[in-house]
Amino acid sequence: MSASTRAGIDHRDGAPYYPMFIDGAWTDAAEHYTIVDPATEAVVARAAKGRLAHADAAVAAAERAHESGVWRSMAPLERAAVLDDAAARLEARAEELTELGSRENGATVRLSGPFSVGQPVAFTRYFANLLRSYQFERPGPLMGPLLAAGTVRREPIGVCAGIVPWNFPLALAIWKAVPALAAGNTVVLKVDEKTPIGALEFARELAAAGVPEGVINVVTGDGEEVGARLAAHPDVRKIAFTGCTATGKEVMRAAAGNLKHVTLELGGKGANIVLADADVAMAVEGAIWACMMHSGQACEAGTRLLLPNSLHDEFVERLIARMRTLRLGNPLDPATDLGPLINAAQRERVLGYIETGQKEGAKLALGGGIPSGPGFEKGFWVEPTLFLDVTNDMAIAREEIFGPVLSVLRYDSDAEAVKIANDSEYGLSAGVWSRSNERALAVANELEAGSVWINDWHNMSPFYPFGGWKQSGLGRELGPDALDAYTEEKFISIDLTGRVENRAFGLVLGTGPN
Ligand code: NAD
Repeated sequence: MSASTRAGIDHRDGAPYYPMFIDGAWTDAAEHYTIVDPATEAVVARAAKGRLAHADAAVAAAERAHESGVWRSMAPLERAAVLDDAAARLEARAEELTELGSRENGATVRLSGPFSVGQPVAFTRYFANLLRSYQFERPGPLMGPLLAAGTVRREPIGVCAGIVPWNFPLALAIWKAVPALAAGNTVVLKVDEKTPIGALEFARELAAAGVPEGVINVVTGDGEEVGARLAAHPDVRKIAFTGCTATGKEVMRAAAGNLKHVTLELGGKGANIVLADADVAMAVEGAIWACMMHSGQACEAGTRLLLPNSLHDEFVERLIARMRTLRLGNPLDPATDLGPLINAAQRERVLGYIETGQKEGAKLALGGGIPSGPGFEKGFWVEPTLFLDVTNDMAIAREEIFGPVLSVLRYDSDAEAVKIANDSEYGLSAGVWSRSNERALAVANELEAGSVWINDWHNMSPFYPFGGWKQSGLGRELGPDALDAYTEEKFISIDLTGRVENRAFGLVLGTGPN
């Protein structure tokens, strides 16, 4: 592997150049990616393009670091202090990281602040705190009085790989890397080729905070090559993946080779149910927030809006009026509501769905095109779009669009709303709007989704698990049990009798504290 350099310091063709971070060293590659600002198409940075050899080198470094015990043998309180220090270092760079986060994926600064800094810092601190009180060893009862004592140890799994997408690149990297590190594992992160900057900057701060060489590695590379290698690698013991459902299935197939632990956070088609007694003004705001946040590029977005026939016309009128006021434009302007889509391919995909929706007979009530005029000469824009008269069999109601496209479906009874909401291969998120908590809870209890928000959306707290039902995923991230997902259990039994010869021919050992 060629020259080692310091990320972001080296400039090539007038833009910062990011090598990968492998075995504690900034590691270059023969080819590179160009990171483009989706709002202006200006070059934000260049980044090394990782290949198979880099994936293998990162896994080998992580494996060596795991075997050496340099991290897993460190006292948990010390590891927690290192993670807290890394969080403080990120926080100290809040302004710079917010802007970089915006420029690498088009998120408005109002979103980039929370997702590039606020959440990474808070969640890192949360995992550090979880580590402080985590029971790595839980002694059990004596087995048959005085026959044997038992204890259950939770030990790090080994090399954990995380593969993350471009929509919330640093936040999602942290959901994987930090609980893995807290539990004492070593980590190889594969960032999306379009958005590598945040995670590479985080690796820099982890190293500066004292994470030893080889314990955190960040590689770039095409998913089909580098991502697939990590999913199949025999020395990777756990893979945590966030991305689309089709890729998640590939990852799971590849992970079967050595029966890796697998966590999958996949796509969604969130049903947002407005009940007939909802506060309409609040639910209109909520419907827009649920669907349009990050221009719809969120797995948990509420993209199917279910309206009762009794409220439909009034609601739609107010929704259209409010959507017309949304400010699309420069993500760095704090007044902007919606930024661009990540790239031209995503714009074409979204426009394709808008065409499909019309062909399927849905009524295009607002938007549907590419905005024009000053500020939109470059970049990958799609107008906030509203479809009415959508039925749940249409592609725009079944498939994940990942753009600013909201589909309105009608229903008559709460039970019918639940039926429509659950009629989806996805089950990541759902929401209910009502003035009655009792009525909203009755509906929430029937929904097949990993997260259900009542009179709200997108609320993700580290104290609660996040993940999907059905084809939205497998396993959970965050929550009070987050470290369990990064440990292996080991039962240790200690004989207390000193008379093992009595057991050698079938003496039944204690089955509990009898
Ligand atoms: P994607 O699946 O194409 O890519 C995600 C990551 O996987 C990237 O790093 C990519 O390089 C890598 N990858 C691609 N092919 C691979 C392969 N064969 N093996 C291993 N890795 C591979 O997803 P995307 O379209 O870039 O991201 C958007 C998707 O992510 C949406 O479907 C969205 O719903 C989902 N998402 C889910 C969550 C969640 O928590 N459930 C959160 C954010 C995004």
